[in-house]
Amino acid sequence: MYHHNNSFYLLITKKKNPIIFGFSLFPCRCGRLQGDVATAEDETSRELSVSELLERANRDRNPDLDEPILIGGDIAIKSEAERNADPCTARGCLWNKWTDGKVYIPYFIANQYSSREQAIIIRGLESFSSMSCIRFRPYQNGDYEWLSIESRNGCYSSVGRQGGAQTVSLARSGCLYHGTVQHELLHALGFNHEQTRSDRDNHIRVQWENIIEDMKYNFNKIATLNQGTSYDYGSVMQYHKYAFSKNNQPTMVPIPNSNVPFGQATQMSQNDIDRLNRLYQC
Ligand SMILES: [Zn+2]
Repeated sequence: MYHHNNSFYLLITKKKNPIIFGFSLFPCRCGRLQGDVATAEDETSRELSVSELLERANRDRNPDLDEPILIGGDIAIKSEAERNADPCTARGCLWNKWTDGKVYIPYFIANQYSSREQAIIIRGLESFSSMSCIRFRPYQNGDYEWLSIESRNGCYSSVGRQGGAQTVSLARSGCLYHGTVQHELLHALGFNHEQTRSDRDNHIRVQWENIIEDMKYNFNKIATLNQGTSYDYGSVMQYHKYAFSKNNQPTMVPIPNSNVPFGQATQMSQNDIDRLNRLYQC
């Protein structure tokens, strides 16, 4: 009986949240189901790209009432009116740099995680130190803006600094991979998905006819600031070629050579690092 009620609730929720549940038509390429994500991390992350992991983790997302709407698979917004805005250009969402040239960003990790899961998150946070002037550091009394890293429903983040506490959701089941942590942190630092770049039509052809109707907005271009870096098929922010497909046909095809590897990153690329350094003038 409980199970029956639960299923019914899920059905209602799906109707109310088409934005989130558009993943359901995508074929599952996962080799294993969730349940022991921590021990599966190394093996699975070699098999699946970040974008595939994100899609899998958010596919059957069942958000709590206080959780945000997601766009682009994993970008949190407060209302649908914001969906195509680039918050960075509209609100100045860069994090502040200190006089020593470093950008300190406080984080708080919820006590939901095992020590191994915490280690994955911290490894992701600290990976930025060796390649940029970004320094994630633990929350301290008096901090007035910080990342609140929590295991909510799915993997998601806002784009850029929001002020106050901002949630970066890294669900225990599905999101605890090095590249996934980096992907969500890059959102929090102000980056959008690669396929929304202003110049993407020179590098990918969007196959609109293959995209789930309700998901087409995810392919709208954004007036992104590209930091003089080239379009990068290997960016950790590039979704894979079947993302949001309604018919198992590609939704994005690289041009001119449709056979180049595409959307398969498992961690930040050199381009991701370069543009981060340029955005923050590291
Ligand atoms: Zn994303």
